[in-house]
Amino acid sequence: MKPHKYGAKRTVCQSEHSHPSKAEAIRCDELRLLWIAARILNYDSQPERINLSGDPKVPIWYTPDFYVSTKGDEWYEEVKGAATDKLPAWRLKAKLWRLHGPCELRVRGCKYGTNPGTFEKRKIQGEQ
Ligand SMILES: [Zn+2]
Repeated sequence: MKPHKYGAKRTVCQSEHSHPSKAEAIRCDELRLLWIAARILNYDSQPERINLSGDPKVPIWYTPDFYVSTKGDEWYEEVKGAATDKLPAWRLKAKLWRLHGPCELRVRGCKYGTNPGTFEKRKIQGEQ
């Protein structure tokens, strides 16, 4: 089980996974609907951890929130609240992802004060 996220409340999604935040549970439900509508090929709410160090002897483990694939494309997703987005550990992992991540990492920020389902998509890979 993932550790409790900053200010976040553990929430069960429609697939009955227990997610560390409401924003993650909402995104999981969205991905389920996209999968039912055949807009995506597959999604995984518990992807395997990834070594971001580039060296198997000195691993820096990171587990993104979701893995998503479509026909001909795949990416990982991280759902971030306004508070956790600024944490140094996350910023470091986002940089390491740009160096050693296996494919694109899409970061979805939940804007506070708006509908939690309103996500702002930002790309990490290729960012300056
Ligand atoms: Zn879920």
